[in-house]
Amino acid sequence: MDDELKRIIRGIALLNASEHNGKTRNDSIISKVIGTKLELRSRIKDVIPLISQAVADVNKLSIESQREELESNYAELLIVKPKQERTGLPPLEGAEQGNVITRFPPEPNGYPHIGHAKASIIDEEYAKMYGGKLILRFDDTNPEKERLEYYAAIKVGLDWLDVKYDLIKNTSDDMEIIHRKGKELIDLGHAYVCTCNKETISKNRREMISCKCRAGNLDQNNTRWNKMFDKFKPGEAIVRFRGDMSSENTVMRDPTLFRIIDESHPIHKDKYRVWPNYDFAVAVEDSIDGITHAFRTKEYELRTELYYTLLDKLNMRKPRMLEFSRLEFEGMPVSKRVLKPLVEEGKVSGFDDPRLPTLEGLRRKGIVPEAIRKFVLSLGFTKSDTLPPFETLESFNRKIIDPTSVRLFIVFDPVKLTVINNNLTEIEISNHPQNEMGKRRVTIDGNFYISGNDAKPLKIGDEVRLLELYNIKVTKIGPEMEGEITGTGYKSEIPKIQWVSRKNPVNIEVLISNVLFINDQFNENSLEVKQAITEQYYLELNVGSQIQFVRFGYCRKDSANQAIYTHK
Ligand code: ATP
Ligand code: MG
Repeated sequence: MDDELKRIIRGIALLNASEHNGKTRNDSIISKVIGTKLELRSRIKDVIPLISQAVADVNKLSIESQREELESNYAELLIVKPKQERTGLPPLEGAEQGNVITRFPPEPNGYPHIGHAKASIIDEEYAKMYGGKLILRFDDTNPEKERLEYYAAIKVGLDWLDVKYDLIKNTSDDMEIIHRKGKELIDLGHAYVCTCNKETISKNRREMISCKCRAGNLDQNNTRWNKMFDKFKPGEAIVRFRGDMSSENTVMRDPTLFRIIDESHPIHKDKYRVWPNYDFAVAVEDSIDGITHAFRTKEYELRTELYYTLLDKLNMRKPRMLEFSRLEFEGMPVSKRVLKPLVEEGKVSGFDDPRLPTLEGLRRKGIVPEAIRKFVLSLGFTKSDTLPPFETLESFNRKIIDPTSVRLFIVFDPVKLTVINNNLTEIEISNHPQNEMGKRRVTIDGNFYISGNDAKPLKIGDEVRLLELYNIKVTKIGPEMEGEITGTGYKSEIPKIQWVSRKNPVNIEVLISNVLFINDQFNENSLEVKQAITEQYYLELNVGSQIQFVRFGYCRKDSANQAIYTHK
């Protein structure tokens, strides 16, 4: 083992030296060495002396001998690997090239949000990384909650994110299999039908006590199982796993596997009434779908024991289940439990309200899908619970939209300004300072609006530059200001302000969103609506266009009279 390790270390030292003028250093190669074998992590103390020795030996050699040794003994290190785009995702344990199947299993009970983006992007990236497949599986076994509208919204969201799946299916389409597996578990003695009431069941779970039903024989269970399909009423009987009522892990204390729900399912209508709960459906589906790696958020960690145990008892193939942290932003919760009431009580305008972390909300706000992907991958496969700042997503977004955002002028709290000796009738302004995005013509007659904020500090005699036009000297202040052209030359010391021609101004509203919750309280000022005046050219832009309002920030055109503030 140590000989092989020494060989590996020497190879890495040689390669590093040959890439750095014949000299290598401990700290340049430690992480590469450790990276070759996981178990080295716990043996760093033993490894470091070997590294120091190899570094000293290799540094004594000439570059030529280093190259020579590399070529004859370490040809494998010299193969240049095709450059893979850094995704921030670590290798998947147990993953084989060509044999990875991941799945994204949303429940169609709400609109997709930033958390779903994280899960689906990671699912897709891993499938891609290993030349595998991604299955989109609607986990729709809760007929009370599912709606067709949500199946559709999730598909729209994934399309927008450009998450491509290889197969789409519904868990509910496998109900016959799921029932069969449930029956099998009963026949094997690993599950029983419990007719105790809810309170008794909870109490027994807490107190780690088994009930009489648990001791029931196979006949009793089979009769009761059959009765669940017709005679029993909802709540009168459930199927429970024969787990371990004294387990430290409360999930294992005979959890529910099936219950009766008499609600019409959006796809299957009244065809089924015995529905599996989440744990049973996910385990069976992941196994039969051929999933090799299943991911879910950390709060499910305790359920993983049940997941593996169920598959064991059913003698079914076990995928690897891995957990990552939930993604959400400070003051911007993603949970349906919180978002639904906000929509229902009219506190936000809908699931596409730009204050919400839903994909629709982010889209309307002007966040683009490429930025979401980069952001998610930059976080990696993290388990840590720290909330990333929303600004991180914004900075990815800014880099992407900046090159294609039209520069326009916008004015708030307009003040009239007349340039008494204006001599222009029309000018051309570039839509982007560097990129070829065309020019727009603006009609001028000397009558402008400027922003109240820019007007306020001006005194008679002050000089300012009207961007793209000329410098003026203020000759009159007040609500109807006047000025006089002093020249066109650039002067670094005077303020430079934007303006809108009074000839054809366009009135718009700019929506500015702030955090929804401050210390868990709904922020009544989470949406600011600002009246503004912008250029005629605004009307020519398509809805959805990204704009950079000069000296204000990036906005997305939401309609002819509304823009939504994206970020600085
Ligand atoms: P919700 O609180 O919105 O009901 P959920 O976990 O029930 O969340 P599902 O539609 O069942 O939502 O989730 C589908 C997949 O997306 C699951 O694999 C889940 O782990 C993952 N997921 C959901 N929310 C997040 C999140 N905030 N961050 C990361 N992944 C998430
Ligand atoms: Mg759910």
